[in-house]
Amino acid sequence: MTKVEIMDVPLLDLKLQYAPLRAEIQKRIAAICDSQIFCLGTKVVELEQELADYCGAAFAFGASSGTDAQLVLMMALGIGPGDAVITTPYTFFSTAGCIARLGAIPIFADIDPATYNLDPVKVREYLEEKCHRSSDGSIVNEDGLVLRAIIPVHLFGCCAEMNAFRAIGAEYGLHIMEDSAQSIGAEYGLSDGSAGRSGSMGDSSYFSFYPTKNLGAFGDAGMATCRDDGLATRVDALRNHGMSPRYYHSMIGGNFRMDAIQATVLQAKLPYLDDWSAARFENAERYRRLFNQADLLQHLTLPAEPHAGRDLKHHHIYNQYIIRTNQRDALKAHLQANNIGCEIYYPLSLHQQECFAYLGCKKGDFPESERAALETLALPIFPELRPEQQETVVARIREFFN
Ligand SMILES: *Cc1c(COP(=O)(O)O)cnc(C)c1O
Repeated sequence: MTKVEIMDVPLLDLKLQYAPLRAEIQKRIAAICDSQIFCLGTKVVELEQELADYCGAAFAFGASSGTDAQLVLMMALGIGPGDAVITTPYTFFSTAGCIARLGAIPIFADIDPATYNLDPVKVREYLEEKCHRSSDGSIVNEDGLVLRAIIPVHLFGCCAEMNAFRAIGAEYGLHIMEDSAQSIGAEYGLSDGSAGRSGSMGDSSYFSFYPTKNLGAFGDAGMATCRDDGLATRVDALRNHGMSPRYYHSMIGGNFRMDAIQATVLQAKLPYLDDWSAARFENAERYRRLFNQADLLQHLTLPAEPHAGRDLKHHHIYNQYIIRTNQRDALKAHLQANNIGCEIYYPLSLHQQECFAYLGCKKGDFPESERAALETLALPIFPELRPEQQETVVARIREFFN
C-alpha cells in the first residue's frame, strides 16, 4: 500500500455492466416493441420459470416492484386490521410500510449486531413474553392483535438465521416471509445439511429488481415466490385486480403486474448473475486483505460472514459492503470530499420514523438497530470495481484515521 494512485470511485456504476450487454438487451427490447405486448405475457412467464428454478422456489410471480410483490403476498394471506407481523426495524422502509398499509401492525424486534439481521432470539423472547396462545390456537399479543407472520430480511446479501425462524414458524404456526430484495442467489446452510437459497427457505418471499439490486431491471420490477399452491393462485390473481377468469373478481386485488420489457432485460442478465455475485465476493475478500494490510481493523468492523465454511456457493452476495465505525459521519464526509462514493443504509431505524409514531415505540427500544443506524457505512463493491479503485478507497480511509 505504499504507492496508491488516487482516483475518484463511484459507489455504483451500472454503465459498466450495461456496456457488454448493450447489443443483446437492445435487440430484446426491440423485439418487445415489435410484439406490442407490454404487460405480463410470455416473457414474464419465461422469466418466472427461470427465476423459480434459480431460487429453488415452487412458484414465482413477476410484479411491478419488490414492494408490490410483498404487498400482494400479504394481501393473498389476508393480513389486515387486527393482525400483527414481526419484522426488523433496520431495513428499507417498505418491509414495514406494506404491513402498515394493509392496516396490520408492524412489531419490531432488534437485530443481531454482527449481521444486522433480525435476531431470532429477540423474536422468540417477544412471542414468549408478550403473547399467548388463544383457544383457537392463534397467537395473540398483549394488545389483542393476532400474530400472523414473521419477515426476516436477508440484509445486504447475507441470509438471516433461517433454521431458527423456520423452527419458530412451525412452533407458533406463523408464516415465514423472507425479504429477499437484497439477496437473490444467497445461500444458507439448512439444518438438514442442504443449501437453502434465499426465497425458498420460508413459506414465501419477495425479490426486488430495482436497478441497484444485484439483478437490476431497467426501472422497477419485483417478484413473489411461495411454496403453497393455494397461496400461489391467489397471488397470481391479486397482482391483476383479483381477476379470475377475465373480468370476474372474487377478491379485490390491484395492478401489480410486471412489464415485458423488464422481464426481457432480466432474462438477458440472469445468466451473468452468479459471476457478478462471485466478483462482489472477490472484492469483499480484497477489501479484507487491504484493510488488514493498512492496519485499520482497530478502527473498523468489516462485514461478518456467518455462513462461510459451510460449502455454500454464495454464502454472501454483497449487495452492499458495510463497514462500521463510531466515527461514521466524519468518515463519510471525508470520503465524499474526496469523491469516494459511500452511503448510509439506513440512517434512522423504522421504529423512530415519524410515520410510525402511532406505534408508540421510543428511542432505546431497539438499541442494536439504533447503534447500527449511527455507525454503518456502505462502500463501493459492484462487480466491475477495479483493484486500484479499492486501494484508493482503503488509502482514503487510512488517511482519515491517521
Ligand atoms: C429494495 C428493497 C425493497 C423494495 O423493493 P422495491 O423493488 O424498491 O420496491 C424491500 N426490502 C428491501 C430490504 C429492499 O432493499
